[in-house]
Amino acid sequence: MIINSNLKKLSKTYLFTQVTEKVENYKKLNPGVKLINLGVGDYTLPLCDAVVKKLREAVNNLSKKETFRGYGPEEGYLFLRESVKKYYKTKGVDLDTDEIFISDGANSDIGNVLELFSKDNPVLIPDPVYPAYVDANIIHGRKIEYLNATQENNFLPGIPKDEVKSRIIYICSPNNPTGATYNYSQLKAFVDYALETGSVIMFDAAYESFIKDQNLPSSIFSIEGAKKCAIEICSFSKIAGFTGVRCGYTVIPEEMVYEDSNMNKIYKRRLAARFNGVSYISQMGANAVFSREGTEQVNENLDYFRKNAKILSSVFEKKGIFYTGAKNSPYIWFKCPSGMSSWDFFDYLLEKFNIVGTPGVGFGKNGENFFRLSSFGTLEETELATEKLLKL
Ligand code: PLP
Repeated sequence: MIINSNLKKLSKTYLFTQVTEKVENYKKLNPGVKLINLGVGDYTLPLCDAVVKKLREAVNNLSKKETFRGYGPEEGYLFLRESVKKYYKTKGVDLDTDEIFISDGANSDIGNVLELFSKDNPVLIPDPVYPAYVDANIIHGRKIEYLNATQENNFLPGIPKDEVKSRIIYICSPNNPTGATYNYSQLKAFVDYALETGSVIMFDAAYESFIKDQNLPSSIFSIEGAKKCAIEICSFSKIAGFTGVRCGYTVIPEEMVYEDSNMNKIYKRRLAARFNGVSYISQMGANAVFSREGTEQVNENLDYFRKNAKILSSVFEKKGIFYTGAKNSPYIWFKCPSGMSSWDFFDYLLEKFNIVGTPGVGFGKNGENFFRLSSFGTLEETELATEKLLKL
């Protein structure tokens, strides 16, 4: 049997596994030491009441003969797609429910949408960024090129200057790990570039709910022309803590046509072949996020994390250390002091302050000498960490 040798090309260890191993090792050597975990990219508050109520209702429905449901539509229940459509309307974006595909989360669809395009198209991925884009493309065997995000461009790299056609371009805004968020004109440049070169943009909007600044777009479809060349991948994980429940959605516009093929229709056919839909329970819970009650409760939680981000960023403001993020993102990305490497700084923070963070180099080579702290911890831990970090 010949196996998919691309799988052997994946890096041997996953960043977060490496972090966990180091932390476990430290705990073994230092029993009783209490660590402050600011490395988490996971949501740490419980599901809000409105969601829990609907999850219960869904289970109840499944428990009775009259309201039981088996397989649902693979593209998701219309009730949820209608709610997503209304949500986009509040952003000034008109979508059709047929353009919305409910998924089991953004991570799966980051790889799934790649099946729409030949592996002969090169892919352009920001560096540093969420590692799943690189991994999915390695598995597919695609040639990977990088868009360099650096301190000089405030971790918001612009369009490539070369003439390469038909690229798959990933954009993550607000970015994980840097928190940097593109403005309208920067995204417009990418859309114009994609239209000129016959490229496609995979826009990961997993952190869109953290955008507060009205001058920043939270959807690529706020940009004229994007419906012809962009796919938007989104998630209920960071807006409402669905990291364990699992639910997300992907928008593939009807206007997207390559080689005379309607990509929305092709994806729908692909979905029927490969997917039997997201759990009814998850979709009922997700739908509650858009109810009046749900929106209020979800925003309260988001404000909690935003407050943490503000508290943490005050350290870097006070110390005059370069940082990005925090304002429209749950992450703070900063330069390690004294030119330390990302992993050296990880060890230093762990040993000297008992704080766990995430080494920037784990997100790409341009992340070397940088570090990510997350605001997904508790307020108490965040305040304690801030006090300690001020002694840096
Ligand atoms: N996209 C980005 C940028 C992320 O940081 C994450 C998770 O951390 C995901 C996607 C995955 O989201 P989901 O839980 O919906 O799979």
